Amino acid sequence: MPMELDALERRIPGEKSINWVTTSVMALFHVGAIAALFFFTWKALFVSLLLWWMSGSWGIGMGYHRLLTHRGYKTPKWVEYFLTLCATLALEGGPIFWVATHRIHHQFSDRDGDPHSPRDGKWWAHIGWLLVGKSMHHDTSTLSRYVPDLAKDRFHVWITKFHYMPIIAVAGLLYGFGAAFGGGVHGGVSCVLWGIFLRTTLGLHFTWLVNSATHVWGSRRFVTRDTSTNNFVVAMLTFGEGWHNNHHAHPTSARHGLRWYEVDLNWYGIWVLNKLHLAKQIQRAKWTDRRMTEDVLVPPAPAHASQSDLGLAS
Ligand SMILES: [Zn+2]
Ligand SMILES: [Zn+2]
Repeated sequence: MPMELDALERRIPGEKSINWVTTSVMALFHVGAIAALFFFTWKALFVSLLLWWMSGSWGIGMGYHRLLTHRGYKTPKWVEYFLTLCATLALEGGPIFWVATHRIHHQFSDRDGDPHSPRDGKWWAHIGWLLVGKSMHHDTSTLSRYVPDLAKDRFHVWITKFHYMPIIAVAGLLYGFGAAFGGGVHGGVSCVLWGIFLRTTLGLHFTWLVNSATHVWGSRRFVTRDTSTNNFVVAMLTFGEGWHNNHHAHPTSARHGLRWYEVDLNWYGIWVLNKLHLAKQIQRAKWTDRRMTEDVLVPPAPAHASQSDLGLAS
């Protein structure tokens, strides 16, 4: 039973040991986020918004999710690596961990084996699954079963190991920026607290809302076998990831907002990449693909392009 690995075990809240490294980092970032409120500057707010967009949209939405996990479009390698670097600034782990976890989520959505289903508790789906259990502890060789494409790529293996380095480097740059442009120590600390601690903490909660809120609250356009929903508020906070029922029905589509009013900044970003000739072979579900029938229910749509599609078949 190759799929019956540790990573697929149903997580029972309270039954597993606490992951102290993750828990400590999360606690530290929340304290830093609160401290940031006492160090407001307009410069710090500006860099925070810029980094939120780069990490949340370019990184997590366009990069980790729609490109690496689902292969909804293709880019030159340097673009893929750049988006991956942006994603590490969200502090959601390296690409191999993130993509493997998310492919497992699509395979077992809201059933046994889903790493973060609200069926195990809303707080569990939001943050508990990260703080308790072994989901963060798998090495590359274990996770590679779910990410054979990324496990063969030395950059992705390397950056997964050192995913926390870019955010440390950016923290140093932010301090220098804040201190150099008129702020001194207060300016430097302000930029770090806002651009790193507050921005990252809010960004984490926004992403986690996709796992918790958009599997509980919102509307369901498609009859999928999970409990996914479309949620406007979550979509606004995540640059379009909140059109989650659309996404579960059409996982490989690079476009999640299917109607004009379903604002989807991640899709607009991919559209711009296409206009710049940096994105091609874009998979795109259309409103007319609306399916309310058995073909969505059984079997589940494949979560990502096959090996042969990826050009990796030997
Ligand atoms: Zn989901
Ligand atoms: Zn997905």
